[in-house]
Amino acid sequence: MSVMNTTQRLTATGGDYADLAAHVRCHGPLPVAGAADAAHIIDTVEAAGLTGRGGAAFPTGRKLRTVAGNARRSGAVVIANGCEGEPASAKDRSLLLKAPHLILDGITLAARAVGAERAYLCVHEGQDDLRNTLRRALSEREAAALPDVDVAVVEVPNRYVASEESSLVHLLNGGPALPLSTPPRPFERGVRSRPTLVDNVETLAQLALAVRHGAAWFRAAGTPDAPGTALVTVAGAVAAPGVYEIGLGISGADLLALAGGATEPLGAVLAGGYFGAWMRADRFAAAPISPHGLHAAGAAMGAGIFLALPATSCGLAETARVARYLADQSAKQCGPCLNGLPALADALAALAVRGGGRGPGTIAALSPYVVGRGACHHPDGAVRLINSALTEFADDVRTHSQSGPCQGLRRTPILPIPAKV
Ligand code: SF4
Repeated sequence: MSVMNTTQRLTATGGDYADLAAHVRCHGPLPVAGAADAAHIIDTVEAAGLTGRGGAAFPTGRKLRTVAGNARRSGAVVIANGCEGEPASAKDRSLLLKAPHLILDGITLAARAVGAERAYLCVHEGQDDLRNTLRRALSEREAAALPDVDVAVVEVPNRYVASEESSLVHLLNGGPALPLSTPPRPFERGVRSRPTLVDNVETLAQLALAVRHGAAWFRAAGTPDAPGTALVTVAGAVAAPGVYEIGLGISGADLLALAGGATEPLGAVLAGGYFGAWMRADRFAAAPISPHGLHAAGAAMGAGIFLALPATSCGLAETARVARYLADQSAKQCGPCLNGLPALADALAALAVRGGGRGPGTIAALSPYVVGRGACHHPDGAVRLINSALTEFADDVRTHSQSGPCQGLRRTPILPIPAKV
């Protein structure tokens, strides 16, 4: 029998909003500097094996150590990234609304580790409830005179690439929220030319728990190569879509069971969001849900987004809609996004909607001119998604090429595309 490895850590306070009193009752007080100085924080996070939960899964301890080293003379800046560029992701917003004090603890500890006196908590604009929650949490901490770093909440435009880390630095330096290609990178010289630590808000909340409870406690959940828990968003054809906290390494089948099970036979699951990859349902069911496990299966964990597609839906049409969205969302600063992504989206749409045999050849010919040629990874992610659709839906590609579009086109789309503003 499979084991449902779920662990409630980030979600331990339960309910809606955990105020400061409820937060401290559940997790204990913020470790003071005497008990957790910079060296202790970095050593603990490294020993815990915490990796970023925003998509890249970079080792958090290594990032802290690098920024701390670069900041010896100038001091550093911390950016907590709470923007969810992925339209299907809900986990960071959920954590910000329910457990903001865990994130704010993490910001303070990270700032202590890298020597920062200033931190920015970035969220997408237009979320009044989130802004009010953060204002409430910050005033509770001020009233309790917690030894916090100074945190400013910053609203970021609602575009896919606006929350890329160099976009946030660009915005905080007074520019538009667009990615920057040229060195120095933020960890070298970022906001106001200071070494800048950019971490996802869930990563910072995980950091707060690891420093409180120690590396061995942190590693008690998850697997040796993917320690700890992670928040994931499960949506599509499942009975109970939502945000779940899982021990890393559970199987895809257990993840779907946690979300109430499939509501109808599944054809595939999109793992990792719109920069992720499709997996046939049987492959997904057997795959371990962790960065390594999904990478080995040719997919990605990304920001922990899993979208279940019914067997009777058209995966090519779903992907074509997302490819068009990603082409529209690019900053259109570089050739691959200006010319390549729209052409790829056109080719996939033609295959999905009209059929005919030219789509796959066009995509194969264009892809090398797009991958690795942008200032950021936006075009690479889009191409990975498109190519995974051609591979995983190979039967559909044949059908569309030879006989025209399938019946799946008639179904209501599963993958969410934000309305244009
Ligand atoms: S690769 Fe695309 S999204 Fe990235 S900076 Fe260039 S134009 Fe913008």
